Amino acid sequence: MLSRVARRCGVLALPVFLALAPVTLANAEAQAEAGQAEPAAVNNWHVREIDGVEYVPLEDLRSFYKLMPLQPKGRKVAGQRMLGNGEVELVFGPAPRELFIQNRLCALSHPVQEDASGDLLVSRIDVLQVIEPVLRPTYIANRRAVRTVVIDPAHGGHDTGTVTAYAREADVVLAVATRLGAELRKRGYEVRLTQEQNQYQSPQVRVDKANEAPAAIFLSLHLNSGRSDMKGAQTYTLAPCGKNEKPLPGHEFSQSSMALAMALQSAMVEKAGAVDGGCRRAHFSPLNSLRCPSVMLELGYATNPDEGTRLSSEEYQLKVVNALAEGVDAYARVMNPATVLQVQKAPVVETPPAPVKVDPAPPVKAKPAAKQAAQPRKKAARRRAPARKPARPANRRNRRR
Ligand SMILES: [Zn+2]
Repeated sequence: MLSRVARRCGVLALPVFLALAPVTLANAEAQAEAGQAEPAAVNNWHVREIDGVEYVPLEDLRSFYKLMPLQPKGRKVAGQRMLGNGEVELVFGPAPRELFIQNRLCALSHPVQEDASGDLLVSRIDVLQVIEPVLRPTYIANRRAVRTVVIDPAHGGHDTGTVTAYAREADVVLAVATRLGAELRKRGYEVRLTQEQNQYQSPQVRVDKANEAPAAIFLSLHLNSGRSDMKGAQTYTLAPCGKNEKPLPGHEFSQSSMALAMALQSAMVEKAGAVDGGCRRAHFSPLNSLRCPSVMLELGYATNPDEGTRLSSEEYQLKVVNALAEGVDAYARVMNPATVLQVQKAPVVETPPAPVKVDPAPPVKAKPAAKQAAQPRKKAARRRAPARKPARPANRRNRRR
């Protein structure tokens, strides 16, 4: 089922058909705050606070998104809870911060909780900033068409990034960024690279280049490092701010950034064949200050012999470039305001208008009931009259004299 959905909707598998949920765009916009649209039904949800974090019962989520509890097809995994509707599948667990949307890992910012009756609770911020923008990207309040893609090969010059026997981070990310830029230009985007010749650029310069670009998205490219057995591509967006913290500039686009992360991460797995390390959230410095949808991509581990060697090969770099370009396209399609309505416009039939038949007014009978019924209309007519007949007050004055 999932592969069928993925094919039909492109790499994103974003179920825009969930717009059937009883919320209008106008409602969502009315409740938007700092770019974070809130499903209108949230007011009816049984929100409760646990350790200073607001939580929503899974049952409310199920009802809002019109999902059913599902049973796993294979062996049941302890601690996992599944919801779905034949088009969309959400799997919570087994780890408390793990959510799989369409079988793609989206790490939650707060662990799911279980109440005394065994019901699961999901943090409200994860519902709004992880689940909502992936399930209903067309409801993102400040979504906008993509014009510019700012690509950030994040290391250069004296800053070589991770260097192993298998891959040199600065070289790999610059090669991928240069090829990706050329590919995206071919696809009609304006492209800006934060550096093009293996130069060091300070984080502030990279942020400024993105914030100056019109209607931009920002992709920062990295290679990961860790134990030699660790592997997989990961896509990071800015972590949410704490309860009493002031939102950072990057928080304005939390929802769009999540949709972009899902588009790129899905493409990396499906098109480039990367191991799915998931969409994750963290407070990485450039993401804090960017005033546009932005992600940080760890394309793979330079420290893993297989992955590092593969990342250094031109053949795999071309696969990554193609995957990321497809991901940008998938995101841009969903962010285009024209994708809201997918109904074919009915053809206009040119026919002359039929002559309007006017029935002669029936003779007025002086019945008391008819008089009473007619009075409110007469009053209304009198109230409207001065606006249409400015000469009338003059007549009144004449009468008084
Ligand atoms: Zn790096």
